[in-house]
Amino acid sequence: MQKQAKAKSTILIFVSLFISVIVGVILQGSGNAAAAELFRPLGTIYINLVKMIMVPLVLSSLIVGISGITDVKQLGKMGIITVTYFSVTTAVAVIIGLVLSNIFKPGIGITVGSEIYNANEFPDIMEQIVSIFPDNILEALLNANMLQIIFIAILIGIAIVKAAPKGELLRKIAEDVFEVVSLITKWIMIVTPLGILGLMIPTVAANGINVLLPLGKLILVFYLAIAIQNGITYTISLKCFSNFKLKEFYGALLPAQIIAFVSCSSAAALPVSLKRTQEELKLSTEVSGFVLPLGATINMDGNALYQGIVTLFIAQAYGIEISIPLQVIIILTGTLASIGAAGVPGAGMIVLSTVLASVGLPIDGIALVAGIDRILDMGRTYTNVTGDAITACIVDKQMK
Ligand code: ASP
Repeated sequence: MQKQAKAKSTILIFVSLFISVIVGVILQGSGNAAAAELFRPLGTIYINLVKMIMVPLVLSSLIVGISGITDVKQLGKMGIITVTYFSVTTAVAVIIGLVLSNIFKPGIGITVGSEIYNANEFPDIMEQIVSIFPDNILEALLNANMLQIIFIAILIGIAIVKAAPKGELLRKIAEDVFEVVSLITKWIMIVTPLGILGLMIPTVAANGINVLLPLGKLILVFYLAIAIQNGITYTISLKCFSNFKLKEFYGALLPAQIIAFVSCSSAAALPVSLKRTQEELKLSTEVSGFVLPLGATINMDGNALYQGIVTLFIAQAYGIEISIPLQVIIILTGTLASIGAAGVPGAGMIVLSTVLASVGLPIDGIALVAGIDRILDMGRTYTNVTGDAITACIVDKQMK
Protein backbone atom coordinates (compact mmCIF):
# COMPACT_ATOMS: atom_id res chain seq x y z
CA MET A 1 0.00 0.00 0.00
CA GLN A 2 2.78 2.40 1.04
CA LYS A 3 4.79 1.32 -1.99
CA GLN A 4 1.87 2.18 -4.25
CA ALA A 5 1.57 5.66 -2.75
CA LYS A 6 5.28 6.25 -3.30
CA ALA A 7 5.09 5.12 -6.92
CA LYS A 8 2.11 7.42 -7.39
CA SER A 9 3.98 10.42 -6.01
CA THR A 10 6.96 9.76 -8.31
CA ILE A 11 4.61 9.51 -11.30
CA LEU A 12 2.95 12.78 -10.29
CA ILE A 13 6.35 14.48 -10.19
CA PHE A 14 7.05 13.32 -13.74
CA VAL A 15 3.60 14.34 -14.92
CA SER A 16 4.05 17.85 -13.55
CA LEU A 17 7.50 18.05 -15.16
CA PHE A 18 5.96 17.05 -18.48
CA ILE A 19 3.05 19.50 -18.14
CA SER A 20 5.49 22.29 -17.24
CA VAL A 21 7.49 21.75 -20.41
CA ILE A 22 4.39 21.67 -22.59
CA VAL A 23 2.83 24.77 -20.97
CA GLY A 24 6.18 26.62 -21.03
CA VAL A 25 6.74 25.85 -24.72
CA ILE A 26 3.18 26.87 -25.65
CA LEU A 27 3.44 30.16 -23.73
CA GLN A 28 6.83 30.89 -25.28
CA GLY A 29 5.71 29.97 -28.79
CA SER A 30 2.56 32.07 -28.60
CA GLY A 31 4.46 35.13 -27.41
CA ASN A 32 2.94 34.93 -23.92
CA ALA A 33 6.12 34.19 -22.00
CA ALA A 34 5.17 36.85 -19.44
CA ALA A 35 2.06 34.85 -18.50
CA ALA A 36 4.37 32.08 -17.24
CA GLU A 37 5.24 34.39 -14.36
CA LEU A 38 1.77 33.74 -12.96
CA PHE A 39 2.99 30.28 -11.96
CA ARG A 40 6.11 31.56 -10.19
CA PRO A 41 4.51 32.12 -6.73
CA LEU A 42 3.81 28.38 -6.52
CA GLY A 43 7.52 27.71 -6.94
CA THR A 44 8.52 30.42 -4.48
CA ILE A 45 6.12 29.12 -1.82
CA TYR A 46 7.47 25.60 -2.30
CA ILE A 47 11.11 26.68 -1.98
CA ASN A 48 10.25 28.77 1.09
CA LEU A 49 8.66 25.73 2.75
CA VAL A 50 11.66 23.56 2.00
CA LYS A 51 14.09 26.18 3.29
CA MET A 52 11.94 26.65 6.40
CA ILE A 53 12.31 23.00 7.31
CA MET A 54 15.99 22.68 6.38
CA VAL A 55 17.63 24.11 9.52
CA PRO A 56 15.62 22.15 12.14
CA LEU A 57 15.91 18.99 10.04
CA VAL A 58 19.68 19.18 9.62
CA LEU A 59 20.30 20.27 13.21
CA SER A 60 18.10 17.62 14.82
CA SER A 61 19.19 14.76 12.55
CA LEU A 62 22.87 15.53 13.12
CA ILE A 63 22.51 15.86 16.90
CA VAL A 64 20.59 12.59 17.04
CA GLY A 65 23.12 10.88 14.77
CA ILE A 66 26.29 12.18 16.43
CA SER A 67 25.05 11.59 19.97
CA GLY A 68 24.50 7.98 18.97
CA ILE A 69 28.22 7.51 18.24
CA THR A 70 29.97 6.51 21.42
CA ASP A 71 33.45 6.39 19.90
CA VAL A 72 34.53 9.90 18.88
CA LYS A 73 37.31 8.39 16.70
CA GLN A 74 34.55 7.10 14.42
CA LEU A 75 33.65 10.71 13.71
CA GLY A 76 37.16 11.50 12.52
CA LYS A 77 37.09 8.43 10.30
CA MET A 78 33.76 9.52 8.80
CA GLY A 79 35.12 13.02 8.13
CA ILE A 80 38.25 11.72 6.41
CA ILE A 81 36.41 9.26 4.13
CA THR A 82 33.84 11.92 3.23
CA VAL A 83 36.30 14.67 2.37
CA THR A 84 38.57 12.27 0.45
CA TYR A 85 35.73 11.02 -1.67
CA PHE A 86 34.36 14.54 -2.20
CA SER A 87 37.74 15.80 -3.44
CA VAL A 88 38.42 12.89 -5.78
CA THR A 89 35.06 13.03 -7.57
CA THR A 90 35.21 16.81 -7.82
CA ALA A 91 38.66 16.73 -9.44
CA VAL A 92 37.48 13.97 -11.81
CA ALA A 93 34.55 16.20 -12.77
CA VAL A 94 36.75 19.19 -13.69
CA ILE A 95 38.98 16.87 -15.72
CA ILE A 96 35.98 15.46 -17.63
CA GLY A 97 34.92 19.04 -18.38
CA LEU A 98 38.38 20.02 -19.61
CA VAL A 99 38.81 16.93 -21.77
CA LEU A 100 35.45 17.37 -23.51
CA SER A 101 36.03 21.08 -24.03
CA ASN A 102 39.43 20.30 -25.60
CA ILE A 103 37.89 17.69 -27.89
CA PHE A 104 34.72 19.48 -29.01
CA LYS A 105 35.89 23.11 -28.73
CA PRO A 106 32.42 24.60 -28.14
CA GLY A 107 33.81 28.18 -27.99
CA ILE A 108 35.30 28.25 -31.49
CA GLY A 109 33.24 30.51 -33.77
CA ILE A 110 31.50 32.39 -30.93
CA THR A 111 31.53 36.15 -31.46
CA VAL A 112 32.69 38.12 -28.47
CA GLY A 113 30.66 41.30 -28.01
CA SER A 114 31.32 44.27 -25.77
CA GLU A 115 29.36 42.91 -22.82
CA ILE A 116 30.51 43.88 -19.36
CA TYR A 117 30.18 41.47 -16.45
CA ASN A 118 30.36 42.78 -12.91
CA ALA A 119 32.11 40.07 -10.94
CA ASN A 120 31.41 39.74 -7.22
CA GLU A 121 34.23 39.75 -4.71
CA PHE A 122 35.09 36.15 -3.84
CA PRO A 123 36.27 35.50 -0.25
CA ASP A 124 39.69 33.88 0.12
CA ILE A 125 40.20 30.35 1.47
CA MET A 126 41.31 31.46 4.96
CA GLU A 127 38.24 33.65 5.30
CA GLN A 128 36.06 30.69 4.36
CA ILE A 129 37.72 28.40 6.91
CA VAL A 130 37.37 31.02 9.66
CA SER A 131 33.69 31.48 8.79
CA ILE A 132 32.95 27.84 9.74
CA PHE A 133 33.28 28.84 13.40
CA PRO A 134 30.24 30.88 14.48
CA ASP A 135 30.47 33.64 17.05
CA ASN A 136 26.77 33.39 17.72
CA ILE A 137 24.73 30.18 17.65
CA LEU A 138 21.41 31.89 16.99
CA GLU A 139 22.81 33.95 14.15
CA ALA A 140 24.16 30.80 12.48
CA LEU A 141 20.70 29.24 12.67
CA LEU A 142 18.93 32.40 11.50
CA ASN A 143 21.22 32.73 8.48
CA ALA A 144 20.88 28.99 7.72
CA ASN A 145 24.68 28.86 7.49
CA MET A 146 25.13 25.13 6.84
CA LEU A 147 28.82 24.77 7.73
CA GLN A 148 28.29 26.60 11.02
CA ILE A 149 25.19 24.52 11.77
CA ILE A 150 27.10 21.29 11.10
CA PHE A 151 29.85 22.50 13.45
CA ILE A 152 27.35 23.39 16.21
CA ALA A 153 25.47 20.08 15.85
CA ILE A 154 28.68 18.04 16.04
CA LEU A 155 29.77 19.93 19.17
CA ILE A 156 26.40 19.43 20.86
CA GLY A 157 26.29 15.76 19.79
CA ILE A 158 29.75 15.03 21.24
CA ALA A 159 28.99 16.99 24.41
CA ILE A 160 25.83 14.94 24.96
CA VAL A 161 27.88 11.74 24.76
CA LYS A 162 30.56 13.06 27.10
CA ALA A 163 28.11 14.56 29.63
CA ALA A 164 26.03 11.34 29.89
CA PRO A 165 23.79 10.69 31.73
CA LYS A 166 23.26 14.44 32.07
CA GLY A 167 22.52 15.41 28.45
CA GLU A 168 19.85 12.73 28.06
CA LEU A 169 16.92 15.16 28.03
CA LEU A 170 18.52 17.25 25.30
CA ARG A 171 19.07 14.13 23.18
CA LYS A 172 15.46 13.12 23.69
CA ILE A 173 14.30 16.60 22.64
CA ALA A 174 16.47 16.42 19.49
CA GLU A 175 14.96 13.00 18.73
CA ASP A 176 11.40 14.32 19.12
CA VAL A 177 12.15 17.42 17.02
CA PHE A 178 13.60 15.14 14.35
CA GLU A 179 10.44 12.98 14.27
CA VAL A 180 8.09 15.95 14.03
CA VAL A 181 10.18 17.80 11.45
CA SER A 182 10.45 14.60 9.36
CA LEU A 183 6.68 14.41 9.27
CA ILE A 184 6.41 18.03 8.12
CA THR A 185 9.00 17.27 5.40
CA LYS A 186 6.81 14.41 4.27
CA TRP A 187 3.86 16.79 3.93
CA ILE A 188 5.94 19.29 1.99
CA MET A 189 6.96 16.51 -0.38
CA ILE A 190 3.31 15.86 -1.18
CA VAL A 191 3.02 19.30 -2.79
CA THR A 192 6.23 18.88 -4.80
CA PRO A 193 4.38 18.51 -8.15
CA LEU A 194 2.85 21.99 -7.62
CA GLY A 195 6.25 23.43 -6.76
CA ILE A 196 7.65 21.95 -9.97
CA LEU A 197 4.99 23.72 -12.05
CA GLY A 198 5.88 27.02 -10.42
CA LEU A 199 9.61 26.58 -10.90
CA MET A 200 9.68 24.99 -14.32
CA ILE A 201 7.05 26.81 -16.41
CA PRO A 202 8.76 30.25 -16.13
CA THR A 203 12.14 28.63 -16.89
CA VAL A 204 10.94 26.88 -20.04
CA ALA A 205 9.05 29.97 -21.22
CA ALA A 206 12.08 32.21 -20.73
CA ASN A 207 14.49 29.92 -22.56
CA GLY A 208 13.13 29.63 -26.05
CA ILE A 209 15.04 28.10 -28.89
CA ASN A 210 16.35 31.53 -29.98
CA VAL A 211 18.10 31.92 -26.61
CA LEU A 212 19.55 28.40 -26.63
CA LEU A 213 20.56 27.90 -30.25
CA PRO A 214 23.66 30.14 -30.46
CA LEU A 215 25.20 28.29 -27.52
CA GLY A 216 23.71 24.92 -28.48
CA LYS A 217 27.11 23.25 -28.82
CA LEU A 218 28.19 24.35 -25.35
CA ILE A 219 24.93 23.06 -23.88
CA LEU A 220 25.33 19.71 -25.63
CA VAL A 221 28.97 19.29 -24.56
CA PHE A 222 28.04 20.25 -21.00
CA TYR A 223 25.22 17.70 -20.81
CA LEU A 224 27.48 15.05 -22.35
CA ALA A 225 29.94 15.70 -19.52
CA ILE A 226 27.09 15.48 -16.99
CA ALA A 227 26.08 12.13 -18.54
CA ILE A 228 29.66 10.84 -18.22
CA GLN A 229 30.00 11.94 -14.60
CA ASN A 230 26.66 10.38 -13.69
CA GLY A 231 26.78 7.34 -15.95
CA ILE A 232 30.43 6.35 -15.47
CA THR A 233 32.01 7.97 -12.37
CA TYR A 234 28.95 7.52 -10.18
CA THR A 235 28.00 4.10 -11.49
CA ILE A 236 31.50 2.76 -10.82
CA SER A 237 31.54 4.38 -7.37
CA LEU A 238 28.19 2.95 -6.42
CA LYS A 239 28.95 -0.53 -7.71
CA CYS A 240 32.44 -0.79 -6.26
CA PHE A 241 32.15 1.05 -2.97
CA SER A 242 28.55 0.83 -1.79
CA ASN A 243 25.96 -1.82 -1.00
CA PHE A 244 23.33 -0.45 -3.34
CA LYS A 245 22.13 -1.45 -6.76
CA LEU A 246 21.67 1.32 -9.31
CA LYS A 247 17.91 0.82 -9.47
CA GLU A 248 17.58 0.94 -5.71
CA PHE A 249 19.66 4.09 -5.45
CA TYR A 250 17.97 6.04 -8.23
CA GLY A 251 14.52 4.85 -7.20
CA ALA A 252 15.11 6.37 -3.80
CA LEU A 253 16.86 9.57 -4.86
CA LEU A 254 14.78 10.52 -7.89
CA PRO A 255 12.45 13.02 -6.13
CA ALA A 256 15.46 14.85 -4.69
CA GLN A 257 17.19 14.86 -8.09
CA ILE A 258 14.14 16.33 -9.79
CA ILE A 259 13.78 19.02 -7.14
CA ALA A 260 17.48 19.83 -7.61
CA PHE A 261 16.99 20.00 -11.38
CA VAL A 262 13.99 22.32 -11.31
CA SER A 263 14.99 24.50 -8.35
CA CYS A 264 18.72 24.78 -9.18
CA SER A 265 19.44 24.66 -5.46
CA SER A 266 21.24 21.87 -3.57
CA ALA A 267 20.02 23.46 -0.36
CA ALA A 268 16.40 23.18 -1.49
CA ALA A 269 16.84 19.50 -2.36
CA LEU A 270 18.56 18.73 0.95
CA PRO A 271 15.51 17.93 3.13
CA VAL A 272 14.24 15.53 0.47
CA SER A 273 17.63 13.80 -0.02
CA LEU A 274 17.93 13.42 3.75
CA LYS A 275 14.50 11.92 4.01
CA ARG A 276 14.80 9.59 1.02
CA THR A 277 18.25 8.27 1.92
CA GLN A 278 17.24 7.66 5.52
CA GLU A 279 13.87 6.10 4.82
CA GLU A 280 14.38 4.30 1.52
CA LEU A 281 18.08 3.40 1.59
CA LYS A 282 18.16 3.09 5.39
CA LEU A 283 21.33 5.15 5.72
CA SER A 284 22.13 5.91 9.35
CA THR A 285 21.13 9.39 10.60
CA GLU A 286 24.71 10.21 11.59
CA VAL A 287 26.08 9.46 8.12
CA SER A 288 23.30 11.06 6.07
CA GLY A 289 22.96 13.93 8.56
CA PHE A 290 26.68 14.65 8.25
CA VAL A 291 27.51 13.90 4.60
CA LEU A 292 24.46 15.41 2.87
CA PRO A 293 24.40 18.88 4.47
CA LEU A 294 28.19 19.09 4.19
CA GLY A 295 27.99 17.97 0.56
CA ALA A 296 25.24 20.47 -0.26
CA THR A 297 27.66 23.15 0.88
CA ILE A 298 31.09 22.02 -0.30
CA ASN A 299 30.75 19.09 -2.72
CA MET A 300 29.66 20.27 -6.14
CA ASP A 301 30.75 17.97 -8.93
CA GLY A 302 28.38 19.49 -11.47
CA ASN A 303 29.72 22.90 -10.65
CA ALA A 304 33.34 21.74 -10.94
CA LEU A 305 32.65 20.17 -14.31
CA TYR A 306 31.06 23.44 -15.44
CA GLN A 307 34.16 25.40 -14.36
CA GLY A 308 36.34 23.17 -16.56
CA ILE A 309 34.14 23.37 -19.64
CA VAL A 310 33.18 27.02 -19.48
CA THR A 311 36.67 28.33 -18.74
CA LEU A 312 38.00 26.68 -21.88
CA PHE A 313 34.89 27.77 -23.80
CA ILE A 314 35.60 31.41 -22.91
CA ALA A 315 39.28 31.02 -23.81
CA GLN A 316 38.30 29.56 -27.19
CA ALA A 317 35.80 32.37 -27.84
CA TYR A 318 38.47 34.98 -27.12
CA GLY A 319 41.04 33.05 -29.16
CA ILE A 320 43.34 32.61 -26.13
CA GLU A 321 45.47 29.45 -25.91
CA ILE A 322 45.36 27.68 -22.52
CA SER A 323 48.46 25.53 -22.06
CA ILE A 324 48.48 22.22 -20.17
CA PRO A 325 50.09 23.72 -17.01
CA LEU A 326 47.34 26.36 -17.02
CA GLN A 327 44.75 23.59 -17.35
CA VAL A 328 46.22 21.99 -14.22
CA ILE A 329 45.64 25.32 -12.47
CA ILE A 330 42.02 25.17 -13.68
CA ILE A 331 41.66 21.72 -12.04
CA LEU A 332 42.85 23.21 -8.73
CA THR A 333 40.93 26.47 -8.84
CA GLY A 334 37.84 24.78 -10.30
CA THR A 335 37.81 22.33 -7.39
CA LEU A 336 38.25 25.14 -4.87
CA ALA A 337 35.67 27.36 -6.56
CA SER A 338 33.11 24.57 -6.40
CA ILE A 339 33.83 24.15 -2.68
CA GLY A 340 33.30 27.89 -2.19
CA ALA A 341 30.02 28.05 -4.11
CA ALA A 342 26.80 28.10 -2.12
CA GLY A 343 24.00 25.62 -2.85
CA VAL A 344 21.81 28.31 -4.41
CA PRO A 345 20.83 29.12 -8.01
CA GLY A 346 23.55 30.75 -10.08
CA ALA A 347 26.36 30.25 -7.55
CA GLY A 348 28.51 28.40 -10.09
CA MET A 349 28.56 31.39 -12.40
CA ILE A 350 29.58 33.73 -9.60
CA VAL A 351 32.61 31.66 -8.61
CA LEU A 352 33.59 31.21 -12.26
CA SER A 353 35.24 34.62 -12.05
CA THR A 354 37.93 33.23 -9.69
CA VAL A 355 38.78 30.42 -12.10
CA LEU A 356 38.97 32.82 -15.05
CA ALA A 357 41.16 35.20 -13.07
CA SER A 358 43.50 32.37 -12.02
CA VAL A 359 44.49 31.77 -15.65
CA GLY A 360 44.33 35.40 -16.79
CA LEU A 361 41.10 35.19 -18.81
CA PRO A 362 38.78 38.21 -19.06
CA ILE A 363 36.02 38.13 -16.43
CA ASP A 364 33.68 39.74 -18.98
CA GLY A 365 33.67 36.34 -20.71
CA ILE A 366 31.03 35.33 -18.17
CA ALA A 367 28.55 37.52 -20.07
CA LEU A 368 28.82 35.01 -22.95
CA VAL A 369 27.21 32.26 -20.87
CA ALA A 370 25.02 34.32 -18.51
CA GLY A 371 21.96 34.02 -20.76
CA ILE A 372 21.90 30.23 -20.58
CA ASP A 373 23.06 29.85 -16.99
CA ARG A 374 19.73 28.51 -15.76
CA ILE A 375 19.87 25.67 -18.30
CA LEU A 376 23.39 24.71 -17.21
CA ASP A 377 22.56 25.22 -13.54
CA MET A 378 19.82 22.56 -13.75
CA GLY A 379 22.35 19.91 -14.79
CA ARG A 380 24.95 21.20 -12.33
CA THR A 381 22.61 21.01 -9.37
CA TYR A 382 21.26 17.58 -10.36
CA THR A 383 24.84 16.30 -10.42
CA ASN A 384 25.83 18.08 -7.20
CA VAL A 385 22.99 16.44 -5.31
CA THR A 386 23.59 13.00 -6.84
CA GLY A 387 27.30 13.17 -5.93
CA ASP A 388 26.46 13.97 -2.31
CA ALA A 389 24.07 11.03 -2.02
CA ILE A 390 26.55 8.62 -3.63
CA THR A 391 29.17 9.71 -1.09
CA ALA A 392 26.68 9.18 1.74
CA CYS A 393 26.06 5.60 0.51
CA ILE A 394 29.80 4.92 0.33
CA VAL A 395 30.55 6.39 3.76
CA ASP A 396 27.64 4.45 5.24
CA LYS A 397 29.15 1.19 4.01
CA GLN A 398 32.62 2.09 5.32
CA MET A 399 31.27 2.97 8.74
CA LYS A 400 29.38 -0.30 9.20
N1 ASP B 1 22.97 25.83 -8.15
C1 ASP B 1 24.01 24.97 -7.71
C2 ASP B 1 23.59 24.23 -6.45
O1 ASP B 1 22.75 24.69 -5.72
C3 ASP B 1 25.29 25.67 -7.48
C4 ASP B 1 25.82 26.12 -8.82
O2 ASP B 1 25.39 27.16 -9.31
O3 ASP B 1 26.64 25.39 -9.38
O4 ASP B 1 24.12 23.18 -6.18
